[in-house]
Amino acid sequence: MPHKGFTLWLTGLSGAGKSTLAHRLAREFRERGYRTELLDGDEVRTHLSAGLGFSRQDRDTNVRRIGFVAKLLARNGVIAITAAISPYRDTRNEVRREHRDFVEVFVDAPVAALAERDVKGLYRRALAGQIPNFTGVSDPYEAPANPEVTVHTDRETVDESLDAILTYLEDKGFIDAEAPVGAGGL
Ligand code: ADP
Repeated sequence: MPHKGFTLWLTGLSGAGKSTLAHRLAREFRERGYRTELLDGDEVRTHLSAGLGFSRQDRDTNVRRIGFVAKLLARNGVIAITAAISPYRDTRNEVRREHRDFVEVFVDAPVAALAERDVKGLYRRALAGQIPNFTGVSDPYEAPANPEVTVHTDRETVDESLDAILTYLEDKGFIDAEAPVGAGGL
């Protein structure tokens, strides 16, 4: 099914749900017959951005590289999903300007909720002062000023957040609307 490529850029704190939502979105797109690729932050750091650290400069380089690959994919008809913290607003906007079709999704949850969730055990250590440059605790996170979509993962289920993103994409014509179940029978 032909469709235009675009970049779906997930940004948010560690543990907010970027990776979870990105994998669910990729699966959903594939099931709908779209071509998609996922650039996951952790994975990118072991390949494309191996050797980069967590200074502002290295974080920006990481985000620019992800943005560059996403742009190449998107302009070739692929839905490029990115899931990296990407903490700096200016750098995200720089990547946005390189794109024709760019959808920024703010995967939002307060640090307190993430510390409670603490998927990787990192917040406990960061809050104890053991991790320098930990985004949201000992390093900045600049929330998007005008994201296309915001999901609040501290008070939504994964399915609800997923639906909010898919609904936006359908409403704006990035993907086709799914026929409601049973609609064919009426
Ligand atoms: P990140 O990629 O942002 O570091 P992960 O996706 O690895 O975060 O972890 C997010 C965790 O939060 C997972 O355990 C996931 O099941 C949970 N979670 C709870 N509610 C949501 C939601 N609405 N959206 C995404 N993840 C959620």
